[in-house]
Amino acid sequence: MEFIDLKAQQAHIRANIEQKIGTVLDHGRYIMGPEIAELEERLAEFVGTRHALACSSGTDALMIALMALEIGPGDAVLTTPFTFIATAEVINRLGAVPVFVDIDPLSFNISPRDLPRCLAALTRKDPKVHPLPNAAFEKSIEPKAIIAVDLFGLPAAYDEINAIAGDHRLKVIEDAAQSLGGQYKGRQAGSLADIGCTSFFPSKPLGCYGDGGMCFTDSDIYHQTMNSLREHGKASHRYDHHLIGLNGRMDTIQAAILLAKFEIFPEEIAARQQVAQTYSDLLLAEDSIQSPQIGDVSMSVWAQYSVLAENEAKRRIMLDKLDSAGIPKAVYYPKPLHLQTAFTALGYQEGDFPVSENTAKRIFSLPMHPYLSPQQQQLIVAQIT
Ligand SMILES: *Cc1c(COP(=O)(O)O)cnc(C)c1O
Repeated sequence: MEFIDLKAQQAHIRANIEQKIGTVLDHGRYIMGPEIAELEERLAEFVGTRHALACSSGTDALMIALMALEIGPGDAVLTTPFTFIATAEVINRLGAVPVFVDIDPLSFNISPRDLPRCLAALTRKDPKVHPLPNAAFEKSIEPKAIIAVDLFGLPAAYDEINAIAGDHRLKVIEDAAQSLGGQYKGRQAGSLADIGCTSFFPSKPLGCYGDGGMCFTDSDIYHQTMNSLREHGKASHRYDHHLIGLNGRMDTIQAAILLAKFEIFPEEIAARQQVAQTYSDLLLAEDSIQSPQIGDVSMSVWAQYSVLAENEAKRRIMLDKLDSAGIPKAVYYPKPLHLQTAFTALGYQEGDFPVSENTAKRIFSLPMHPYLSPQQQQLIVAQIT
């Protein structure tokens, strides 16, 4: 059994993938070939934004988005500590300061209730109102943006987040690395903030066979800026550059692979709903495991099916049982970002974000992909119940 079965998927589309790679080998435009624009057009239409910009990874998508918003030294960017490191890494990389806000215990996404408290604490430099990073006291840092993450494929609470951002003149970036194909109030993930960023890392809901990412926006200005940043800050004239950018392009071959995979993506999204429903049905009567609570305004794309054990010791027992049965599993994430070594300079302490810390001790993820059979799911659930 596979945690994410990319071989089963490939069996369905191998011929199409080979044909599309063959086309790239024939035309030879490995950098910015015609498949890039085609993919951008398809995905902008799917997500429902005016623009989509293919780039080299989800991390670079976030970086390019922050650069387009002109985030840099002196700026604070509010985000969740319960995410993959890339979300906060890019903030630091640009010289800005990540300011963490705890998660909601049911959605695992940034808590809109805590955001105003965090902003008030920053203004007053008062850590009694909300935990703050060291930088908030050393110099003046000004909140400029929020990066909300759609964890495990479930969009964050964007109506609340965007409203708070509007009140404080902050920009919002949607880290949709895990949520492409998910929905919030009938709108597609990736379209829910000023700029949406996704990842095509192989194991994401829509993955390529290497690294890749994409930025989505309705803003012509952001699109134009990001388009320039993606290619070293190019201006309209090839060897004149008006911005300091990066090499953030997607390979044409990866775009070709994504075009083939995108053809079956709607079916895969539907199959993911089915698989998640089967898990939830099988776990319904279990008191010892809390299955995901996604609410009724969103549709998760189920990048992960993550459950909560009652405590760390009980999780250990369940993980061991899955191991003995040869069933793959994962823990996303065992350590919240504010407790990771790379972020020690921020000066956060254990206890600052109790929901994230508690979740990190109890959460684990079961195998999840569109090709999982109900029989396999019964076998998996039987090990932990
Ligand atoms: C995967 C992921 C990223 C980074 O994407 P890459 O394509 O691996 O660079 C960023 N944020 C979240 C939440 C992710 O899951």
